[in-house]
Amino acid sequence: MTVLALEVGPTRIAAIEIADDVGPDQVKQIPVPERQTWERVRELMQDIAAGRDIKAVGIASGGPIDMSSGVVAPSHISDWEAGFPLVDSMEKLFPAATVALALDGVCLSLAERHFGGTREVMDSLAMYVSEAIVGGVMVGGFVVVGRTGNAGQIGHVLVPGYDVPCSCGGRGCLEAVAGGAALVKWANGQGWGGASVEALVAAAGEGQQVAISALERAGTALGRAIASVAALLDIDRVVVGGPVTAAGALLWKPLQNAIAMHARLPFLPGLRAIPSELGDLGLLAGAGVLALSSIQQQQS
Ligand SMILES: [Zn+2]
Repeated sequence: MTVLALEVGPTRIAAIEIADDVGPDQVKQIPVPERQTWERVRELMQDIAAGRDIKAVGIASGGPIDMSSGVVAPSHISDWEAGFPLVDSMEKLFPAATVALALDGVCLSLAERHFGGTREVMDSLAMYVSEAIVGGVMVGGFVVVGRTGNAGQIGHVLVPGYDVPCSCGGRGCLEAVAGGAALVKWANGQGWGGASVEALVAAAGEGQQVAISALERAGTALGRAIASVAALLDIDRVVVGGPVTAAGALLWKPLQNAIAMHARLPFLPGLRAIPSELGDLGLLAGAGVLALSSIQQQQS
């Protein structure tokens, strides 16, 4: 029984065959294409399927998505921005497969619940901070999907103290402050000459002050947003992954300080924010959970 997972992520499109023991070496990935996105995705899926019958495909996609129609419209993919029927297209590619779609953050939350840092809690927030910010919430042991499938987008929660235009059209969103692209842009405006989150994290590690300040800015904004969400949902665990978190204490210290300063309600002292252990596999692992549960649902 071959089960595949697909990630339509912030910076890459990736696929993996779901098995008991999977690792980063098994991931096949391409950068997000400029055009002909479906053609590239189809090639990637055919490559990993290798001519076998596919039983199920789980898809973790950037939003917005429409769960009921299976249409995705991720804002960072230009030829899908107006909406692309990803579930229909995948069903045509693999006619014997059940195809299940969820928001990237919903898949991340599923992965942390099954394999990661929220296994032993019922109420949690999972985040992945790369170019963009992916988020998903679990309440009472259930991952919150939302009315249209787009719940959990903490990247567009407003953070006080910032008034930066966001890609969503709003202002002051967390992603516009603490997302990797926003951090690089801010650091460039302060005279730093690098071009990627990884370079920014490395520069901070070498003691470059602008890079350190960028990570302080990100940590503070993340901590404020986490404190707000924790108060709203009464959660006790937050797991944060992604390249921005590789900065270690330079990010985590201001993040924890902001939580300590703002999460003051009597039910929040147990709130813990911890690094993710899933590396870059979170979205794919969650898409795998989605695919396997779609098979179970079909059989029951
Ligand atoms: Zn926004």
